[in-house]
Amino acid sequence: MIPISSVRFGREEEDLVLEVLRSGSVAQGPMVQRLEQRFCELFGVDHAVAVNNGTTALIAALQVLDLEPGDEVITTPFTFVATVNAILASGATAVLSDIREEDFNLDPDAARAAVTPSTRAIMPVHLYGQMADMDPIVELASAHGLRVVEDSAQSHGATYRGVAAGGFGLGTFSFYATKNITTGEGGLISTNDAALADRLRVLRNQGMREKYVYEVAGNNYRLTDLQAAIGLPQLDRYDDLVNTRRRNASTLSDGLAGLAGIEVPRELPGRTHVWHQYTVRVPEHSVINRDELVARLVEKGIGAAVYYPRLLSDYGAYSDNPRVRVEDVSVARRVAGEVLSLPVHPHLSDEDLSQIIDSVCGLVGGS
Ligand SMILES: *Cc1c(COP(=O)(O)O)cnc(C)c1O
Repeated sequence: MIPISSVRFGREEEDLVLEVLRSGSVAQGPMVQRLEQRFCELFGVDHAVAVNNGTTALIAALQVLDLEPGDEVITTPFTFVATVNAILASGATAVLSDIREEDFNLDPDAARAAVTPSTRAIMPVHLYGQMADMDPIVELASAHGLRVVEDSAQSHGATYRGVAAGGFGLGTFSFYATKNITTGEGGLISTNDAALADRLRVLRNQGMREKYVYEVAGNNYRLTDLQAAIGLPQLDRYDDLVNTRRRNASTLSDGLAGLAGIEVPRELPGRTHVWHQYTVRVPEHSVINRDELVARLVEKGIGAAVYYPRLLSDYGAYSDNPRVRVEDVSVARRVAGEVLSLPVHPHLSDEDLSQIIDSVCGLVGGS
């Protein structure tokens, strides 16, 4: 089986984890701070606050915006469920608006149409490794005094006109096992706003500024030093990891080019894609439908997968929720029926890539 994602650690992770174990400082030691500093250097943000997972990162980012019941946060229904769960956990109302076909991300025009006097924040999700169209989103936010929270769980280091994901307001990241950088479970919030970073640090540690001086009602959102030690070496070699993903994506696109039944993903002008997923579309007129193609690929030992088969607005937990408002999401609905992700991770061999290309071509009716 060629898996859709693959986790491999090196000597550097082993050595650093051992260093933490031997030091005895497994929590609130120096390694978390080292991870945060390295993250800032690598992705050009001023502040990074590591937390225990990507969902917590979203929740904490929303908590420091002081949202109140009735406040609205605009995002997309075509995302991992954590995005919307975090909005609901913050007490606000989630407004799900449509995406663009070109990048699978929040459509700034649809978001503009969804703004009401209650809108407080806009939360694009940089899906699959490519950022949303940030210029019009930032413009919309400044016109209406909205906060920008970027769900960057899948897009560490992706850029938009030279600015990395998480550099436009508050950015949230996940270090879950399948993400481009992993600590098993882990997360991080980035921002260039020193005051917000300070509040996040206090919130993360039980609302405590100094020992037993509680400033706000906080929580335990902390990452451990063991986890930070797993993540740090991956930051050091992240450029190589992304370059390998990029090379794999380009091999796949060359191999699948010209197949009538498949649309390959595009890196849009002004953006760099970090290829968390390589996601093709199987349009309706194709000789084989999407679900059948996935099933046949899996039979052939290729870990094809669908992210995501249904819109969040198609689950009763959200469609029947009085704190979820669903706009016209017809583009997202069509896209959810057509997408399919193929393995693109850095541990694919040349034979793996050929096998993926040959199998897709065989099934879709190409060479
Ligand atoms: C993975 C993911 C999250 C949640 O991260 P966890 O670390 O699993 O909590 C949030 N949003 C998106 C888009 C994700 O892909």
